[in-house]
Amino acid sequence: MPQTELIPAHFRDGACRMAAALRDVDRVLVSGHVNPDGDAVGSLAAAGHILRSLGKEFILYSSTGLPQYLQFFPLPGTVHTSLEHLPFTPRCALLLDCGEPHRLGRELAQRLPGLTSLNIDHHLGGDGMGSLANWVDPEAAATAQLMAYVALAAGLPLKNELACAVALGIITDTGGLCHGNTSANIFSLCARLVEDGCDLTGLRERLENTWSMGRMRLWGRLMERARLERNGEVAFCPVLLEDLRQCRALKEDLEGFVEQLRRLGGVRVAALLREDAPQLCKFSLRSYGDTDVRATAAALGGGGHLNAAGGTLRLRSEQAAEVLLAAINAQLAKEDGLSGETR
Ligand code: 5GP
Ligand code: MN
Repeated sequence: MPQTELIPAHFRDGACRMAAALRDVDRVLVSGHVNPDGDAVGSLAAAGHILRSLGKEFILYSSTGLPQYLQFFPLPGTVHTSLEHLPFTPRCALLLDCGEPHRLGRELAQRLPGLTSLNIDHHLGGDGMGSLANWVDPEAAATAQLMAYVALAAGLPLKNELACAVALGIITDTGGLCHGNTSANIFSLCARLVEDGCDLTGLRERLENTWSMGRMRLWGRLMERARLERNGEVAFCPVLLEDLRQCRALKEDLEGFVEQLRRLGGVRVAALLREDAPQLCKFSLRSYGDTDVRATAAALGGGGHLNAAGGTLRLRSEQAAEVLLAAINAQLAKEDGLSGETR
């Protein structure tokens, strides 16, 4: 069977287009979004393996570097955190898991107009920022899923490091094959990865069961602090810089915490507000089903997916909390109004 037949029909055209686009470029700078998660890193790694197999020169780039909890993951090259002193001058940028230039970090966003670019992504909200070609498909659970299809379209076997890179992205963005985006296509792709020797459970073990005591202390403190709003429909928790310092925890130790807020029965929206600087807060929102947190994030200048979204607010923590909760309330009221109309 030709490899392209292994790609679900819905994704075939996009995968073939991107595989063809990759054949036409060289000296590629590969980047995901800042503060990369497992999907950004998995996609970065997958891209490196694909480019290497195609005989292309490439550089892996992430302005903020890799978080500590992903440093165990083998990558097909050094991750550069600056565009100064690169081994060669890139001619093309391959932008992954990122829908907006500012999420690439300032340095690359500034350099972007001087480069041709390709964009592969699964975020809602645009056709892509690539100057040469774009493949943005919100039906994909993870950008790494799209990278798997690009590899198949390029005639490459989904084995070894490439398979693990795809698995890392999928495990991350489906919450370990649990979230609503865990489609039949994801299960078939994972079945193939496992058949070909990818140790999915080993990967989950490395990702999930390596907590530090700092993280344990931080989560304990935040669980006590969590509170309900809007008659129990919204779970909210603010995190201050001093919490991280006092618990001896890192910013990345918050990864996964907002999902815990959703565990409270009756909660429609979980909201975490993290102070990054005295006048700068990052928020993370999670929901289930039709409840749209992307609309709320977008109203505040952020973005993401229907059930997982985020953004930043240039405000002090208390003010940011007010603004965020008001926006969540407004969106829920709007959705309640709409469902009332159709009833
Ligand atoms: P998280 O809450 O885990 O940081 O992000 C959840 C989702 O929202 C991810 O898909 C992420 O890409 C998106 N997201 C988070 N922060 C921002 C932001 O500042 N702008 C945009 N456009 N998307 C964001
Ligand atoms: Mn993603």
